Amino acid sequence: MPERLRVLAGDCHVTERGDRSRTYRGRVVVLIKPDDTTLVHDADGYQPVAWLTRPESVVVEGDGAGFSVTARDGQRCLRVVTEEATASRALPVTEAGVPVGTCPADGGALVRSRGDVVCLSCEHRWGLPAGASVTDGVCDDCGLPKIRVERGEPFHLCLDPACDPMEAAVSDRFDRVWDCPDCDGDLTVEFAPGRVYLACERYPYCETTFSIPSGVVVEECDCGLPVFETATGRSCVDGTCEYGGHTAGGR
Ligand SMILES: [Zn+2]
Ligand SMILES: [Zn+2]
Ligand SMILES: [Zn+2]
Ligand SMILES: [Zn+2]
Repeated sequence: MPERLRVLAGDCHVTERGDRSRTYRGRVVVLIKPDDTTLVHDADGYQPVAWLTRPESVVVEGDGAGFSVTARDGQRCLRVVTEEATASRALPVTEAGVPVGTCPADGGALVRSRGDVVCLSCEHRWGLPAGASVTDGVCDDCGLPKIRVERGEPFHLCLDPACDPMEAAVSDRFDRVWDCPDCDGDLTVEFAPGRVYLACERYPYCETTFSIPSGVVVEECDCGLPVFETATGRSCVDGTCEYGGHTAGGR
């Protein structure tokens, strides 16, 4: 079930108490968001006449014939009392995000919001790996959009990690490609929730690990490890290595 936004309207007395006390009277619309943020809008401009962001409590009393709203947050109080009520509704609302495709399960719109992709119909959420973008491509198996994510090179994977695990794709490409700089072992691709990394196959006898950043391998460092180009420039995958190669854009 989507969350509800309450909309109340009428000729109202609006009283604010807190740092200052003020009273208004007018035909206003009161919006109470699912997080209890309470906004009182009049006819003018975009800014509310009065509001409380995520107050500790909101109490709505009455019905369509007349209502009162009391929002409290510490010492602050916002109270709206009708002289005459004209509307009282509860409307379904969702978060809004950039449209990125269609949910194959129910045809609902998929939007990108707060680092996730959300279906506005079933409200299923898929987390995105750091640095990933959603592409126009569609997964042949499940119909979800494909994502593009860089971990040494660009990978095009299904949005659903159960369908197309990122760690499997990175492992297929980079497992045992590089040697451990600290022993004669190979570096294998390992994963932890939300990240993939290189680790020495001799673990726990050798504890060498390197995070695989969001970026692409552009050359080999003098130390034998890969150099990554990321949003912040070029560096050896070993953060402690004195990489002396070209800087990004310096070629
Ligand atoms: Zn859906
Ligand atoms: Zn899929
Ligand atoms: Zn090692
Ligand atoms: Zn290096």
